[in-house]
Parts: sequence; structure tokens; C-alpha cells
Amino acid sequence: KEVYLNGKWLKPDEAFVSVFDRAFMFGDGIYEVTPFYKGKGFKLKEHLKRLQYSLDQIQITFDAFSLEKLMLEAIDRAGLHNADAAVYIQLSRGAGARSHFVPEKIETSILLYAFGVTLEGFEKKTWHVMASEDKRWYRCDIKSTALLANVMANEAAISAGFHENLLLRNGYFTEGSHSSLFFVKYGVVYTHPEGPEILSGITRAEVINICASLNIKVIEKTVHFDELVEVEEVFVTGTTTQIIPISSITHHNKKVYTTRKDSLTKKLQEVFIKRTRR
Ligand code: PLP
Repeated sequence: KEVYLNGKWLKPDEAFVSVFDRAFMFGDGIYEVTPFYKGKGFKLKEHLKRLQYSLDQIQITFDAFSLEKLMLEAIDRAGLHNADAAVYIQLSRGAGARSHFVPEKIETSILLYAFGVTLEGFEKKTWHVMASEDKRWYRCDIKSTALLANVMANEAAISAGFHENLLLRNGYFTEGSHSSLFFVKYGVVYTHPEGPEILSGITRAEVINICASLNIKVIEKTVHFDELVEVEEVFVTGTTTQIIPISSITHHNKKVYTTRKDSLTKKLQEVFIKRTRR
């Protein structure tokens, strides 16, 4: 296994960054995770476009699309051309004397590697989840390496025996700690609109597209906690999560939702499998 770091392919235990690296010190970095189904990148351009957006937002000058070749090389070097895999990309603002302001001369640092993941069998899973307050900052649209609030939310869930933590901002569901979130109410699909409260999920966009192809109505509108009584199906999406139905939601140790149906989620999974594995 090799990782690409600033122009070199290295063994992971020989790849080092400076202790003054700003992604290390401030979380001043951007990342991206792109899936490869049996060696073939899925929505690669969309992932690079989102990477470019995040870089632009925090004013790191870098051409995200220049990484495409390296991504394919990472898959190749890891011998994953026939396996399900993902490529992790991280760009740090770089290393420099510690200061909150950005030093004038600083070089973007690039880390990139491929790893094997299980992308099969997700349609057999269901997740029991908890819900808690969304304590993240107000730029969740930036895919920043500063993930402490996400880590805390996810750890709270996993340590309590749940699969994911659904986050609530002022009583409205935003998304999961590492997934996008959808609700089905009276046959209509709801998901939080894009904006600073959520990450613009690539899988989320694909699911919205699949709904359109199936003539299923999607409304990008927030769902309030109190609306759960009317909700028929809940599911989360993500690059490695894919599409997983939620079987229950627990809030303050009380079960506030148990699944009523799964037919729409199943339909979406079916089409998603066809699209990712053709
Ligand atoms: N929301 C958050 C907070 C995430 O970390 C992720 C990443 O998986 C997603 C949503 C899903 O995005 P994508 O479908 O692009 O992987």
C-alpha cells in the first residue's frame, strides 16, 4: 500500500507532514472521498467539482481536476482495479509558523490514497439511530477536515449502540454526522435544502435524480422533529453508506420513530445498484 504525499508515492509509515501543518493545527484543510465500483470511479467529476468548491470557499488556490490522474493511479497502485474501493484526498493549506491569519508564502499540501471498501450488501442493512443537537459550524457546505463536532456526534451514537446520529438545528433535521438525510411523508420525499447547514452530498444528488426518473416527488424542505409522527420512511445516503433505511430514531433515550414502510427506499436502492454497477 502506498500513499501519495506532495509529489511522492510513499509507504504509509514513511509519509510524514510537518507538525506545523495547518490541517493538523487548525483543521485548515479540505477533503473528499470518491467511490470506485469494481475499479470504476462513480461521479468522479462531481466529487472533484465539490472539492474545487470547498477549496475556493476557503481560498486555497489549487486545480482540483488536476488530481483525476492521481486518483486513477492510486487505484492502480493499490491493485484495486477489480475491487470496490474509494479514494481519499486531503488538501491542507500547508505548513508555516502558527498564526490564525494565513502566512503569505505557504504551499498547499496534498495527500491522496486508495483503500478497499465494502460497497455490496448495503441493501440488506437497516440502521437504528439517535438524534441530537447539531453543534457544527454554519458552513457545513465546506467539506473541511475540521470534523470535531461530527466526530463527537458519531462517537455518541456508536458508543450508545446506534449506527448514526441525526442532527437537529432549532428542531429541524439537517443531516447525519456523516450522511445525508431523507424523509418520506405521504409518498413525497423531503430533504434539507442545500446551503450552509448541510454538505451537498453527491449521493444525495443522485437520489434526487433517481426520484425524478421514477416520478417520485422531491421537496427540498426541512423536516421538523414534531413531523416525525407523519413520516413513513427515513433513509440516509453517502458515498460509502450508499442508501440505508432507518428503522428507529431515539431522542433523549426515548424512541420517537419506528419505521412504518420501506417500499420507496427499496425502489431507490434498486435503481442505485443498477446505476453504480452497470
Ligand atoms: N453529510 C456529511 C456530513 C458527510 O460527511 C457526508 C459524507 O459522506 C455526506 C453528507 C454524504 O455525502 P456524499 O454522498 O457526497 O458522500
